[in-house]
Amino acid sequence: MEIDIMTLFPEAVDAMLGISILGRAQERGHIAIRTHQIRSYTTNKQMQVDDYPYGGGRGAVMQADPLYRCWDHICQEAGERVHTIYLSPCGRVFDQQVAKELKASYERLILVCGHYEGVDQRFIDECVDEEISMGDFVLTGGEIPAMALADCLCRMVPGVLPEESCYTDESHWDGLLEYPQYSRPEEWHGRKVPEVLLSGHHGKVDDWRKKECYKRTMTRRPDLFSRFDETSLTTKHDRKVLAEAKAEWAAEQE
Ligand code: SAM
Repeated sequence: MEIDIMTLFPEAVDAMLGISILGRAQERGHIAIRTHQIRSYTTNKQMQVDDYPYGGGRGAVMQADPLYRCWDHICQEAGERVHTIYLSPCGRVFDQQVAKELKASYERLILVCGHYEGVDQRFIDECVDEEISMGDFVLTGGEIPAMALADCLCRMVPGVLPEESCYTDESHWDGLLEYPQYSRPEEWHGRKVPEVLLSGHHGKVDDWRKKECYKRTMTRRPDLFSRFDETSLTTKHDRKVLAEAKAEWAAEQE
């Protein structure tokens, strides 16, 4: 997977995405994340990328031309029009499902980070294929959303994590939240690790974890649980575990 990020702050993005798991994945050639300084595509001496909004009002708007020149340079280099996402609070809200869709559909993406009051609409109309939001709140710039999106997609590229279960066995993959995790010591501040996790009985551990996923999702995210597809449980045992989790959860609510 290749991701080109158009930004006014490439150093910030490089610093974050060039370390740890994603940094190593880039060194090994599993993914490529490139940042592009939009300011380098200006044609004025001051390298100005923004101007006042037509119609009045406060703030500044990122001008279409430097954005277009940067975008066009990336597409020329790629030899094709690359699917382009503008990170925007007005876009569809990002989640694991959107991430799976993007990962399955595109080998290469351009992410455009806005700043100030946003981006001239004419650039969006001409070059942007979709707008994606990180949630119903407003940030100062699109860099943090672009990094979140790139990180989430790149985790799913083969070779980035040691095995597929590293990203499938996580919250939100199948519409549920993950079970609680524990590490050493067995007792900390008088709080003990649940006994079943020390039993060495893999079947019992698996059942406990599944039940905790169900119960945690029912408690914290009833909206997610109501969309959970129970018909995806194909074995009698899996259906029994769900029934037990529901019964335990109901008893805990009393
Ligand atoms: N005036 C815009 C509005 O009210 O919709 C907000 C502009 S915001 C201050 C500056 C930039 O941050 C945006 O152009 C966008 O790239 C990014 N941004 C802010 N909040 C975001 C969010 N929730 N999701 C994705 N990008 C966001």
